Amino acid sequence: MKFVYEFAEGNKDLADLLGGKGANLAEMTNLGLPVPAGFTITTQACKQYLASGVRPAGLDDEIGAHLSTLEEAMGRRLGDPHDPLLVSVRSGAAISMPGMMETVLNVGLGDASVAGLAAQAGGDERFAWDSYRRLIQMFGKTVCDVPGEEFEDALDAAKAAKGVRDDVDLDAADLRELVGAFQAVFAKHTGHEFPQDPREQLDLAVEAVFRSWNAKRAVLYRRQERIPEDLGTAVSVVAMVFGNLGADSGTGVAFTRDPGTGEPGIYGDYLANAQGEDVVAGIRNTVPLEDLERLDPDSYAELLRIMATLEGHYRDLCDIEFTIERGKLWMLQTRVGKRTAAAAFTIAAHLVDEEMIDMDEAVRRVTGAQLAQLMFPRFDLSDEPQPVTRAVGASPGAASGEVVFTAEHAVQRAEAGHRVILVRRETNPDDLPGMIAARGILTSRGGKTSHAAVVARGMGKTCVCGADEITVGEREFTVAGHTIAEGDVISVDGTTGRVYLGEVPVRDSEVVQYFEGDLDPANANDPLVSAVHRIMTHADERRRLLVRTNADTAADAARARRFGAQGIGLCRTEHMFLGDRRELVEKLILATTDADRQAALAALQPLQRDDFLALLREMNGLPVTVRLIDPPLHEFLPALEDLAVHVAVARERGERATRQEQMLAAVRRMHEQNPMLGLRGVRLGLVVPGLFAMQVRAIAEAAVALAAEGGTPRPEIMVPLVGAVQELETVRAEAEKILAEVVGDSGVPVLIGTMIEVPRAALTAGQIAEAAEFFSFGTNDLTQMGWGFSRDDVEGAFFWRYLELGIFGISPFESLDRDGVGRMVRIASDEGRAARPDLKLGVCGEHGGDPDSVHFFHEAGLDYVSCSPFRVPVARLEAGRAAVLDAPSVG
Ligand code: PEP
Ligand code: MG
Repeated sequence: MKFVYEFAEGNKDLADLLGGKGANLAEMTNLGLPVPAGFTITTQACKQYLASGVRPAGLDDEIGAHLSTLEEAMGRRLGDPHDPLLVSVRSGAAISMPGMMETVLNVGLGDASVAGLAAQAGGDERFAWDSYRRLIQMFGKTVCDVPGEEFEDALDAAKAAKGVRDDVDLDAADLRELVGAFQAVFAKHTGHEFPQDPREQLDLAVEAVFRSWNAKRAVLYRRQERIPEDLGTAVSVVAMVFGNLGADSGTGVAFTRDPGTGEPGIYGDYLANAQGEDVVAGIRNTVPLEDLERLDPDSYAELLRIMATLEGHYRDLCDIEFTIERGKLWMLQTRVGKRTAAAAFTIAAHLVDEEMIDMDEAVRRVTGAQLAQLMFPRFDLSDEPQPVTRAVGASPGAASGEVVFTAEHAVQRAEAGHRVILVRRETNPDDLPGMIAARGILTSRGGKTSHAAVVARGMGKTCVCGADEITVGEREFTVAGHTIAEGDVISVDGTTGRVYLGEVPVRDSEVVQYFEGDLDPANANDPLVSAVHRIMTHADERRRLLVRTNADTAADAARARRFGAQGIGLCRTEHMFLGDRRELVEKLILATTDADRQAALAALQPLQRDDFLALLREMNGLPVTVRLIDPPLHEFLPALEDLAVHVAVARERGERATRQEQMLAAVRRMHEQNPMLGLRGVRLGLVVPGLFAMQVRAIAEAAVALAAEGGTPRPEIMVPLVGAVQELETVRAEAEKILAEVVGDSGVPVLIGTMIEVPRAALTAGQIAEAAEFFSFGTNDLTQMGWGFSRDDVEGAFFWRYLELGIFGISPFESLDRDGVGRMVRIASDEGRAARPDLKLGVCGEHGGDPDSVHFFHEAGLDYVSCSPFRVPVARLEAGRAAVLDAPSVG
């Protein structure tokens, strides 16, 4: 097996083998750009090393051979006392893991070659000794686990002895002494001297970079970002170039377009007489890249040429790291650059205009998650409010409100009509009611997978975590010299992680205004709105999946239609049983005779018919799936505890509470240990005579009424929680009778189908399809029953731990578990279609609006996804992306 590739042997498509950095260095080398000579050791070598603990056989010889080529190319030898070659040893995985792994610079330097390096640098002894002390420090920490503080302490001691504050105030002699001190620290901790053999340094550095794949922070990062554990890192060995050789040297970063807005132009920072690590450490202030034009016009002009070449070549925004060594420009890294959501859309549209990519590619280049980000309300920052602190933006959105410190208080204040922000050191499951009541959540501890973050994202609630600059007390918190008491107003930005004192006005997103039809994309002077419009239009043309919405009210249905919904995939009728209809529902539940029950149903029916008529009207011409009632009936009665207290108090006072007592008896009768697995869905329809019949009649009458108005009703009746075909057959027989009676041969088509949300239904789908014209996957229940996870309890209770352990990277209630629940979806789709080829297939669980899950449903061959109105655009875009991701990329 070949373990080492010369830069000239690689290319950008070999990132799996050479890592992103190595592959792009190779690509730039082959483009003829000025890249320092070097080679890359493959991820394969890393994997073998990690498995066996030793360098794989043959690796040393290969490195030796490539080293000779490198020495020849540079005209210098590693370890040459007069003119030494130094190399950097850099990590780089296939997927970028910024700052998570190790790099060792200046490898090859030793006691014997410091003078040679000084000579190379035009007699700059200070530079040579500084380079040497940096090597011992980095090598000690990274390769030999010497505690970094020991080196820092020695450096501080050297500065204190000289009475100076900055590193730059130490001269060559000081640094020479410091090298001695560092060597002593090294020997004390390792039991041996700092290795003087440059090849030994190189081999040990390579091993250390391999091992850094398994550094704690790297493992954690991979879990969070869902990067596979077994990729390994490549190691690039690159001839050192120095940006710290004087005023004609320097280092910088550049973007080929603005990564914030996506607008064309040159963006970047430059730091004269410095090395890359100085920029990262933020020790000195950088200047805008444009200043380089004045400082070094030739290098600047060359950099611009290279940036144009790279953009044309990668056909995308590139980010670049470069160094200028005595007026000579060197490219150290490039990659397709990260960007904001807005920039992603704008850049994609610009690149189409510049004929670098086609519209399919533009659709591939943006994501539903980015679109969702653009749809959240944002703070209006035109008054330039200054954040008081900045932490982890854990769940996007913008929220202002008064500060509360306990969940109870959050609930009380919210019930009194106040907007509140819940501030906690960290949250736990007891805080859940407070989190629900709050507009936003701020914690001083924890990151993106903390309890607060996970739960807030699940609820779509704004959350900022890990604000470690704030100190949370009982009834106040302090930050940057301010004390914020209970009741004071703060504003938290869950997208950027910024926290502001006082109220910051919230602005609706332009993208939502566009979807609402309030902004004309042709007139809007807004490149973002125009880009979103063009990309959405193309996604719509390309997608195969239809997108419907889950809506129970005419207002939701209307909004979803404006957002592009092509029908209703789920109307949850139980929501129509609340409010002022509770009394009628109670009568139904408490009825002891057939006559009473019929009377209650007869009172409900016209109300239901009007509900359905409103929905059918709003969705005129499009399908409307109405689900017959699903939850257990006792959910419509007061809670057992409240009733029991009420009745007991009344009895104590000698009062009569007949109705309450009746209700209490009913609730007791209906009480279930596991209501989610109890008398609900189709089971209710089979047990409570007339209930489903009333709903079917209401749907049929609404359809006939709309047809009479000249509309085009397309109702679909959906039976929930079916597990056996016999259940569906029974409901179907009764429904067909009613339909024959009400709809007759009026020509209004009414479909009857079922949800597939019980595992048994998925596994007997062939039988069930005999009695169903459509299936709609209820992936919420299918996940609940497939995993045995109570959907109302587990996410807040212990999912944070599951995420921490990497059991899954994202809640299966949020993104479909392809292996388990997805398998059931596939089985049911295949067997259902085998039994009934024209069976319509859709999904109406929460996953219908989740980007990853939409791709799965596309692959599984479903006809539509259905999701909440706000997620309709995201589903449209992802359905389009799923279609074009199958198609080959052009242009
Ligand atoms: C489902 O189970 O996926 C579903 C859509 O139904 P509900 O969430 O109402 O149980
Ligand atoms: Mg369900």
